[in-house]
Amino acid sequence: MDGRQSFLQDDDDDSLLFEKLQEHVLERYPNPERKGCIDHATLETWVYSPRKLDLSDPKYLHVLKCAECTRELIDLRKQRDARRKAQIGNQAARAGNWLWAGIAAVLACAIAIGGVAYWRVHSPSSSVATIPATPIALAIDLSQAGTTRGGETSTVPPVALPRRVVAAHILLPYFSPGGKYVVSVTMDKDGSPAKAETTGTANVNGFHADLAVTLDLRNLPQGTYYLATTHEGDRASYYYPLTVR
Ligand SMILES: [Zn+2]
Repeated sequence: MDGRQSFLQDDDDDSLLFEKLQEHVLERYPNPERKGCIDHATLETWVYSPRKLDLSDPKYLHVLKCAECTRELIDLRKQRDARRKAQIGNQAARAGNWLWAGIAAVLACAIAIGGVAYWRVHSPSSSVATIPATPIALAIDLSQAGTTRGGETSTVPPVALPRRVVAAHILLPYFSPGGKYVVSVTMDKDGSPAKAETTGTANVNGFHADLAVTLDLRNLPQGTYYLATTHEGDRASYYYPLTVR
């Protein structure tokens, strides 16, 4: 398995690890009397807005020794995921309508200026036009990265991304805080202007934080860059080697 494959699969491996851990707890730590259990409202907060809790508090380790709390967490996550799926479904339907409206507008415009052929010949022939704008979904696993800041080199294998609009699911290094992040692509680690930049909100899930962002890399020449993440509460950036193919 080469480095790229393992980086794409790590996300699955990671979920698998948590699944195994959960199975282990469900099997080994029944707690029918609910001794020392975390109340339902807190578990709900854990699943829906984990940033409101200090999950580094040792009291939450209880879950690792309690099948009942683990079961409750699993159920709550299922409910949350089902709700999110339904929301995404609605958004996709709206986006679909919007897309068709956009295409209709472009066509009407093309006809108005003398037909589709004219529009094709005279449309700007930048390289962007030839790369589809449809985002390509990719996982970026930074969970194994040490806490490297400017100057130091990251220990994770370089991230490789295509010259596309990338809908990235970033697995941040373990124990990263949730909250708003700026994700950018830079030439160096000296704070020069970003070649691409976006923002997203990371959700803490157990020991790691997930960040979903969309990066437009269509204008970037192929080459080596840095992927930089900056948390709103900590202006220091973390840099990861990046190859754009
Ligand atoms: Zn419990």
